Amino acid sequence: MIGIDEALDTVLAEVEPLGSERVPLLEALGRACAADVVSPEAVPGFTNSAMDGFAVRGEDLAGGRREFAVVAEIPAGRPNARHLFAGESAKIMTGAPLPPGADTVVPVELTVALEGGVLLTEAPAPGSNVRLAGEDLAPGDVLLERGDRVGPAEIGLLASVGVEALAVARRPRVAVLATGSELVPPGQPLAPGQIRNSNSFTAYAQVLGAGGDPVLLGIAPDDVAETRRLLAAALEQDVVLTSGGVSVGEFDFVKQVQEELGVERRFWGVKTKPGKPLAFGVRGGTLVFGVPGNPVAAMVSFELYIRPALLALQGRRDLYRPYVVARAAEPVRAAKGRTELRRCRLTREGGAWSFTTTGPQGSGILRSMALADGLAIVPTRHPAGPAGEELPVQLLEGSTTQRPPYPA
Ligand code: AMP
Ligand code: MG
Repeated sequence: MIGIDEALDTVLAEVEPLGSERVPLLEALGRACAADVVSPEAVPGFTNSAMDGFAVRGEDLAGGRREFAVVAEIPAGRPNARHLFAGESAKIMTGAPLPPGADTVVPVELTVALEGGVLLTEAPAPGSNVRLAGEDLAPGDVLLERGDRVGPAEIGLLASVGVEALAVARRPRVAVLATGSELVPPGQPLAPGQIRNSNSFTAYAQVLGAGGDPVLLGIAPDDVAETRRLLAAALEQDVVLTSGGVSVGEFDFVKQVQEELGVERRFWGVKTKPGKPLAFGVRGGTLVFGVPGNPVAAMVSFELYIRPALLALQGRRDLYRPYVVARAAEPVRAAKGRTELRRCRLTREGGAWSFTTTGPQGSGILRSMALADGLAIVPTRHPAGPAGEELPVQLLEGSTTQRPPYPA
């Protein structure tokens, strides 16, 4: 069996970034930019006032003048105010174009109104409270780079320079197939011995969260022919995510059927708990993941390997979850010979992060995942480490370029 780093490197080595498509600005939200975007416009487009106040000539202030005639009023959106000469000012609003001749704005708070004029109680430095044309962005400045995630601020930035559409990476299509004759979808009654299919739901949500396009293929019963039929359909997509049937049970057919369908195995088995019997292979350009059936094992396998792979397919560079170093609030164990990913909650205590395990950690106990902020990465050297020991905790939100430290 291999460690997490080796498994992750093996998966990422098989990734060929997908092509791109042009989409309207708002549809780019959450997608990966597929080509650098340069600004077509300058920001600000014209020199304007940063405050509500009075536009004046800096040389008048420097010369000691404190009393000005008010010769114009300039609201935002109104260009072409007349030139200001010595001793003149214009009442001006935030965002309004500075009149020619003026280079400084005196905030209204530093003024007293006079009949036909204004008196300054304080003089700002010449040039202050003005936003110069092009001081934020010049035409041609790079706004987004290929591989950047388009979030709310990026959408706003592009809108601010008039970009209406851009090239984003195609969303990887991920076939989601649950295996197991015991599985029943919600909405159907449970017969004795049956359980609910939850893996298709968590996988669907996780795929969406990683920018993928989930294609639900339902449930394959533990029957070779039916598994073969559904897996063959799944292999049409960019990524296949089956759950269950990859362990050593009598009815675990998934690996066998993968092989029959031409999937080249890259590894089977990773030294982790949960998630040990993970199977990964490729067929043509399709990445084929067989995650274990236990719901937490399936979700943790997604977090560790499939999420980075889906982001890499979109050309993203921030493939990993951020991590924090936190103190164990109680002694934590790790499985023998395996790195344990304990679902935990983070709290801040005395200026440091501390984590507590979210109750029983069985790989079928989805509640341990639902309650969690992150996965504590517990190396195998323990039977049980001391309370207070520091361990990395990989969060269940966010993205960064820095991979968490996984034990070999
Ligand atoms: P398997 O990996 O197929 O041996 O399944 C391991 C455990 O996970 C068994 O208890 C299964 O019933 C359960 N399981 C498998 N698939 C699912 C699923 N889609 N939803 C919920 N539990 C599942
Ligand atoms: Mg099964």
